[in-house]
Amino acid sequence: MTNHDTTSDTVESVTAAPAQLFTGVGIGLPSLTVICSRCDKRLQEGDSVSVYAYRPAEGSQWYIGRCCCSSCAPDQLTAPTLGTSECRINARLATVSEVTAQHHSLCLIKPAVTAFASPTTGTRS
Ligand SMILES: [Zn+2]
Repeated sequence: MTNHDTTSDTVESVTAAPAQLFTGVGIGLPSLTVICSRCDKRLQEGDSVSVYAYRPAEGSQWYIGRCCCSSCAPDQLTAPTLGTSECRINARLATVSEVTAQHHSLCLIKPAVTAFASPTTGTRS
């Protein structure tokens, strides 16, 4: 019997449900507040937010873009970009703590995708 050598394996991407993919994703600067990109309201742990997430078609990495408070949040993608996977996500802010380093930052919990656009929809901007 031979053991499979997993240390030499590399993986570029895996498939995941959006709710699992975006749970725990860090958001904003390393501080415990995020500013709404529309009304400048300060958002903190426990607040509901809406974020814009995107992934260029040629990459496997998702990026978090604008973060809005729930009252400013658009539910839809107003102008999808061709060649990019995009979604809007409603979530709550939670704190992640790295206790030994005394480092605390915000992440997303309970994400729900409210809109999605595949790379083949939208217009080039
Ligand atoms: Zn706002």
